[in-house]
Amino acid sequence: MTNPDTSREADRSAEPTSARDAPPRKDFLREAVAHDVASGRFGRLVHTRFPPEPNGFLHIGHAKSICLNFGIAREFGGLCNLRFDDTNPATEDMRYVEAIREDVRWLGFDWDDERFASDYFERLYEIAEALVRAGKAYVDSQSEEAIREGRGTITLPGTPSPYRDRPVEENLDLLRRMRAGEFPDGAHVLRAKIDMGHPNMLMRDPLLLRIRHAAHYRRGTAWCIYPLYDFAHGLSDAFEGITHSLCTLEFKDNRELYDWLVREAGFERPPEQTEFARLELDYTVLSKRKLLRLVAEGYVRGWDDPRMPTIAGLRRRGVTPEAIRAFAETIGVARSDARIELATFEHAVRDDLNMRVPRVMAVARPVKLVLTNYPEGQVEMLDAPLYPHDVPLTGSRPVPFSRELWIEREDFMEDPPKKFFRLAPGREVRLRYAYLVTCTGVVKDAAGEIVEIHATYDPATRGGDAPDGRRVQGTIHWVSAARALDCELRLYDRLFAIADPDNLPDGRDFVSALNPNSLVTAPHAKVEPSVASDIPGMRYQFERIGYFISDPFESTAGRPIFNRTVALRDSWAKAKDRPAAASA
Ligand code: ATP
Ligand code: MG
Repeated sequence: MTNPDTSREADRSAEPTSARDAPPRKDFLREAVAHDVASGRFGRLVHTRFPPEPNGFLHIGHAKSICLNFGIAREFGGLCNLRFDDTNPATEDMRYVEAIREDVRWLGFDWDDERFASDYFERLYEIAEALVRAGKAYVDSQSEEAIREGRGTITLPGTPSPYRDRPVEENLDLLRRMRAGEFPDGAHVLRAKIDMGHPNMLMRDPLLLRIRHAAHYRRGTAWCIYPLYDFAHGLSDAFEGITHSLCTLEFKDNRELYDWLVREAGFERPPEQTEFARLELDYTVLSKRKLLRLVAEGYVRGWDDPRMPTIAGLRRRGVTPEAIRAFAETIGVARSDARIELATFEHAVRDDLNMRVPRVMAVARPVKLVLTNYPEGQVEMLDAPLYPHDVPLTGSRPVPFSRELWIEREDFMEDPPKKFFRLAPGREVRLRYAYLVTCTGVVKDAAGEIVEIHATYDPATRGGDAPDGRRVQGTIHWVSAARALDCELRLYDRLFAIADPDNLPDGRDFVSALNPNSLVTAPHAKVEPSVASDIPGMRYQFERIGYFISDPFESTAGRPIFNRTVALRDSWAKAKDRPAAASA
């Protein structure tokens, strides 16, 4: 392990995707696409798109959408665009565009065309004029509030705007002057003229364009009228020749307007919108708006804080793209929303890491173990395997053993209960890969704190087995004090203390449900020296503690920092208050 490369971690990304990922399940989306392909409905290749608004970093919910859109295109030999739905000047930024590109690539996907809805402002404007000329849109000069009130309710039809029957010429003139920047924000809007009594509220003369005197991150101040989501989205799909427009269920009611717009704009064989269930994951929030608040108000250390459900956060935490894709595959696509347990995600993460990362030893909260019968100054090198026997990878590393060792504070009890199979006075345990040792006593400081544990080792048990066949129940991990590296472990836990922070009782703010212990650091941890020359970003299993990655940004050669990706098993389900290091 003196070789500073990542070769010990099985590079599963080098394998072809089809061999690595399980074959996709037949779900209702794939069935519909297969049907359309068979019937030749669109007369062109299957064409999907992933359409994020660049107003924040992508999260695991977006990963589901990415896997679907890119996955379906790939499976059907079609195309998938990356389209930035950037029609809102207030919140969008190039920094988010760059982060989104990086995250999609990292997840293992590449887009055919990169598009920006903000490049379609001209075309959308032309369609707006055409709708006006056809008597299908009008300029409304009511206040925003009056427009909202005029819309009616689910049980009451809306009331037509007094401007609804403006002559076409007047509408055209106002629309052109809106575009020219003659009016302040809110003075006028362009509305489609559909049906103020429509049972679908979104069809009651929806807004198409509004005035916003704001600089757009790409178009600057070239435009001061901006399309609303519905106006931009479906038509952008149509411009790009999208066939299957997949989106989350909250857009179900928008589909009617989507269809109206692409039809009125004259598209033949227009795209079809189909909705699928949004991913909601326990103990986190999946909304860029809420995640932005956590970043902006300093509840986390940034978009890529390892506690965040963002792709960047998960990456920094050590989660692999393969695990995220496997997770997306496991949860599948459904037609109705369902919350997913965190355990489902963690299972996918462990499943992947178990097969690829080397195992080494680190001690989170060290206490010194002195082997009083071991020669002073002697260091022997033990050969320890990097992978367990059921993993198809081989390799080992030398592990120094010496008279003074660090062991986990939680692995010793002075007055233990019967079922405590670790170290205690008079009891014998196995030091992983090394020897059997028997505790002979402790040394305490003036305050009564244990500063040293004393033990004797049995030289006949090298490797961990007693020649006389006597059995010991416990095996604990350790690091040679003479050769250990100082390091910091960051033990992450769920970001929220409550499963569904989006729906707190009494309308409580979601931040009130944050888990105050989502990050516990072990600043005085010790790790075996075999990792010394590894590059940042290496993943390991620290035996009995969990899966870790050396932080790619803050680790230094002299002081590595390791982020815990996931504990070895769900310690919450068993005992909430048990220290992480003792859960093995
Ligand atoms: P957010 O509330 O996080 O901003 P959004 O839907 O507004 O989510 P967009 O950038 O508009 O974010 O989303 C891009 C695509 O990702 C959309 O097609 C959207 O349906 C999909 N998507 C967003 N969140 C989820 C989720 N939790 N599960 C599945 N797909 C999602
Ligand atoms: Mg959105």
